[in-house]
Amino acid sequence: MIKDLCFEIIETCPNNCMFCSSCSSIDKRKIIDFDLFKRTIDYLLEKGAYV
Ligand code: SF4
Repeated sequence: MIKDLCFEIIETCPNNCMFCSSCSSIDKRKIIDFDLFKRTIDYLLEKGAYV
């Protein structure tokens, strides 16, 4: 059962925290593909997740 889910849709972040678990930075431009995002949300809803 999924109790909590964190979706990182973009890697860009200006904060530059020393221990960032997302490896984010101001220079990164990667954004999740919309179709992949939608398919993932649909899959989770199908499995009973609440959004
Ligand atoms: S932990 Fe990473 S994503 Fe979160 S604010 Fe810091 S640099 Fe940004």
